[in-house]
Amino acid sequence: MATPDSDWLTPNWLAEGAAHIWRPYCQMQTARPPLPVVATLGSRLVLADGRELIDGLASWWTACHGYNHPHIAQALRDQIERMPHVMFGGLAHEPAYRLAKRLADLLPGDLSHAFFAESGSVAVEIAMKMALQFHINRGAQTNKGAGRTRFLSFRGGYHGDTLATMTVCDPEEGMHSLFSGVMPAQVIADLPRDAESEAALDALLAVRGEEIAAILVEPLVQGAGGMLLHGPETLRALRRLADAHGVLLIFDEIFTGFGRTGTMFAMQAAGIEPDIVTLSKALTGGTLPLSAAVASTRVFEAFLSDDPEAGLMHGPTYMANPLACAAANASLDLFEDGAWRADVARVSAALTEGLEPCRAAPGVVDVRVMGAIGVVEFDAPVAVGDLCARFVEEGAWIRPMGKVIYLTPAFTTPDTDLALLTRAVRKVVGVAHPLD
Ligand SMILES: *Cc1c(COP(=O)(O)O)cnc(C)c1O
Repeated sequence: MATPDSDWLTPNWLAEGAAHIWRPYCQMQTARPPLPVVATLGSRLVLADGRELIDGLASWWTACHGYNHPHIAQALRDQIERMPHVMFGGLAHEPAYRLAKRLADLLPGDLSHAFFAESGSVAVEIAMKMALQFHINRGAQTNKGAGRTRFLSFRGGYHGDTLATMTVCDPEEGMHSLFSGVMPAQVIADLPRDAESEAALDALLAVRGEEIAAILVEPLVQGAGGMLLHGPETLRALRRLADAHGVLLIFDEIFTGFGRTGTMFAMQAAGIEPDIVTLSKALTGGTLPLSAAVASTRVFEAFLSDDPEAGLMHGPTYMANPLACAAANASLDLFEDGAWRADVARVSAALTEGLEPCRAAPGVVDVRVMGAIGVVEFDAPVAVGDLCARFVEEGAWIRPMGKVIYLTPAFTTPDTDLALLTRAVRKVVGVAHPLD
């Protein structure tokens, strides 16, 4: 572990920059000051005063292999010396081409045409644009389909903070209700969980299906909307409904992809594939911003034509950044030996054992675990700032959201650190346990 030096102990940058930084999801007038962090290693954050916190979140679900993994660090050093960035228009480079091939091999079915961008929200926007244009392109040939201008998404969903992605988030819980009316309204429904709710969604699609370009869902876990779980049968129902109504199906695996739910991709638990999948967060093992919208062959081929306008007119400046793609390739190397499966199972067992006693705590309405995701849900929204401060006293970095305290640690988090994390949750929610 690195040792703090005197610069870290007197972080002038913090005082000098504080008046000029606009922080995320934040009422800047009343928010507690942020914690200055000066280094990361493995499952830990090192603060400016030398304290170490066990990270229960893996930096918003990105750092799946833990921080500063030497294999990813070496790949980044090699790539930065050779070519940190080059434009993707008219040029090709190995890191992106290799990554596209590897993602195609890794993803089930024929999800095999990757369009790269820099953030999750932008990947979702691209997937939405692909779906709209899929119908426009096909409509140009069949004179049908050009009226499909809306999306069907679900209560509890979260797909990003940009303008178009805000419209497909949960309209009340999705942090964006202020902006209702600014952008076109989408069709927001309840997830089908049984035959009855599948029939209700089928009836909705019978009426509005012709307007819908695609159904958009986070498979198995609605993450930022409150870590809400559903079963594989829901995904199979959505596949059936999409096919029956000529609608595309988009899975947003930005949170669930790369092992988080126990399978490489959440869709694999259902044995079905969407027409487009979005990936980001853990794609680079938590090192650099990169995302992808990966389309099936059927979707990709709808863009092939003698007509230049039928192509996808999109190209972010930093698209397929070689450094980020090198990090993603190195992260995929780390998945190759399959050891992550045992790690996720180990984390899952530790979260189940450590969080289950929280059921007895005041205000707790549910405790649930899926893969390397552990959730304690309350009957009302929790005081995020106060709880964060309490967790820091316990040596843990845990930032609740809405009604849930949750843990999404790195898969490589040692047992002792997992024990500290769950003990911190038990202590803060106020349950005594023989383990403590
Ligand atoms: C985080 C997240 C996004 C948005 O990704 P950004 O990189 O923050 O834009 C979209 N969808 C899901 C499911 C996410 O978890």
